Formats: sequence, structure tokens, C-alpha cells
Amino acid sequence: MSDPAGAPSREFGEGTRARLSLVRGEGASLYDAAGRRFVDLGATHGVGNLGASPPRVVRAIQAQAAQLIHLGSGYASPVRTAFVDKLLGLLPPSFGRVFLSNSGTEAVEAAIKIARSATGRPKIVAARRGFHGRTLGALSATWRRELRTPFEPLVPEFSHVGYNDPDDLETEVDERTALLLLEPVQGEGGVHVATREYLRAARAAADRVGALLAFDEVQTGIGRTGRLFAFQHTEVVPDLLTLAKSLAGGVPIGATVTTPEVEARFQGSHHSTFGGNPLACAAGIAALETVVEEHLAERAERLGELALDRLRGIPSDRIRDVRGLGLLLGIELRDRVAPLLAALEAKGFLAISAGSTVLRLLPPLVISDDDWSAGLRAIEEAIVGG
Ligand SMILES: *Cc1c(COP(=O)(O)O)cnc(C)c1O
Repeated sequence: MSDPAGAPSREFGEGTRARLSLVRGEGASLYDAAGRRFVDLGATHGVGNLGASPPRVVRAIQAQAAQLIHLGSGYASPVRTAFVDKLLGLLPPSFGRVFLSNSGTEAVEAAIKIARSATGRPKIVAARRGFHGRTLGALSATWRRELRTPFEPLVPEFSHVGYNDPDDLETEVDERTALLLLEPVQGEGGVHVATREYLRAARAAADRVGALLAFDEVQTGIGRTGRLFAFQHTEVVPDLLTLAKSLAGGVPIGATVTTPEVEARFQGSHHSTFGGNPLACAAGIAALETVVEEHLAERAERLGELALDRLRGIPSDRIRDVRGLGLLLGIELRDRVAPLLAALEAKGFLAISAGSTVLRLLPPLVISDDDWSAGLRAIEEAIVGG
């Protein structure tokens, strides 16, 4: 149980070396072993849209665990069917098929495989600054050089266009393109919001050549941006939608949603042992019910608009830009963000970065008004005073 402060970690992987030890959470509060409270302004890296250990999800997991933890996809499972029905019921009617996996990168891998197989074409077009995960297929769509270079050669036939640049789509999306893969708001890449015109242009570019359009909503889905799914800010509907992070309220899950037409053209075989396991599906049902019944997308929209105004009013030339949608907000600094994160942690607020100069805020959508204003005040003090 104990993980003494300062003890070296024997794990490896990004972020595992020096880290704060936390043992318990409730809503937007996270506690260390000594009982010190931290306010989570990063939703445990985008997973905690409903907060830590959301009660309804906890009850669903407990009940399902006692009944049946695992069942492979070769057996029918009522909870799995109910989850798929619940998810599809919240999406436009064109969507009718779901592939279930265990993480965001797996959801993207599936989208890439489905697109190549369904179109018989090789090329995948993603965007500069985009992030889609770290397995080799998804990593090939991810932009950041330092994440890619050590693992080259990556999967061939991936290219990147300028985000929010419709002209680039005209030249790059062609008859060899299987998939155009975009985040409606780029999260890891620095919190950049796609314009409505750009998403429309993406749909048109894909349609022009018969390519498929995928929106990666691993981070923007489940109420984060002020709609249940970020594409719902527009009338644009993609052919594929990738979901993960908050989809099951904190339990690992990934989902690749598509249309019956695309599924019918998909020739290959794809499968995941744990994908769609009863525990994750039970948690997913509870999570989706919670987001809808507690109107958390509406809350994200309201709190996000107020926060944008508030943050844009901070009098400091350290700030280059403030942007975002709903409760996915970015403050781009002229200097490095690491000292600001440390200053906030010292004040009891846990925030995350997106690249080296952007403070990324994505609090649990259930954060109390008081904690959220205290967080914004702490950010202002740390920026103005730092
Ligand atoms: C986090 C993220 C992923 C990768 O998800 P993992 O669960 O870490 O594999 C993919 N796409 C987007 C947009 C993400 O934010």
C-alpha cells in the first residue's frame, strides 16, 4: 500500500518517475495519504469527467464484479448489449455499429484498420499537432516528432495537414486516401479548437474522393466541450468516431463507432480479448446515464464560457493566448509552463500541460463552483505573481 514520498519508481514510461502519491478521490478532490486535499484541474488526465470514483459508476462496478467480471466477445452479454444500445442511442442515427476495446490508442487503431480495409486504400491523413495515441498505427497519426522518432520507421502512407487549413485538405486528401482523422479540439497538441468551417471542409474533402472521415473524441467526448460529443457543435457527422478516456467513468475502455455501411465494407478481422468486458460495459452505462441525467455537458458549457472570460481578463504579458471550448481550456504562455504547474501544486491545485508552454485545464465536469473559482484565482495569482 505505501509508496513513500521520494522513493524511486521501478516503473518506466512517461510521467512515472517523480510523482505525487495520491490514495483517494471524490468529485474534483484528490487526497494524499496524509489527508491533504488537492483540487483536480486535469480530470486525472481527461478520464475523470464525472470526477473521481463517481458513486453511480462505483455501484455499477461493485454489482457487476460480484456477478461476472469477464466474458469474451464470443458470448452474448446483456450488459454489453445494453451499453452498445445506450451509446448508440446518444449518437446520430447514421451510427449503428461499435467496436469495443480498452483504450484511446486501440480505438484509433481500429479506425485506421477499418478505414484501410473498407476503402481498399492506403493513405491516412491526420493533422499537425494532432495526438491519437502511441501504438505504432496511432503513433503514425500523432504529430509530435519526439514521440515518433525513436520508433521509426512508422506505418507508411500517413501524412499531416495544417489544422484549420481547408486549402491543405484540398491538396492532401486524394483518391488514395482511406481516412481523414481529426480531433474536433486538439487536446494534447495545445488546445486548438477547429472552426465549424474547417470541420465542414473536412467532410466535403472526404466526400469528394470517397475517403472516410473520423473524429477522434477520446478527449473531447462525454460532455467535455459543452456537448455530449464535440462534433455536435456542428452539423458535421463523421463516418467513424473514437472514444475512450471518460467513457466508462474511469474504467479502461475504448470504442470505435461507425455506420452499418462502413462495417459492411470492412473485410478484415479485428478483435480484443478484454474489449467490451462486462465490468467496463456496466461502468459505461452508469457513466453515460450520469452525464446525461446530471446535465454535465451543459455545465461544461456554462463554466467554460465564464472561465474563458475570466482567464482572458488576467492582466499579464506572460499570456500569449487563451482558448478552448467548454471545459477544455488552454492558456498559452510566452514562457515555460512547468514552473506554473509546480506553483499550482504547492497551492493544492493539480493542472496539466499540453506541450511546453500551454497550461491545459480540463477539470471534472462535476467540480463545484467554489473549487473552480478558487482554481481560476490560484492560476491568476500564479501567473501574475510568478
Ligand atoms: C489520450 C488520447 C488518445 C490516446 O488514448 P490512450 O487511452 O492513452 O491510449 C488518443 N486520442 C486522443 C485525442 C487523446 O486525447
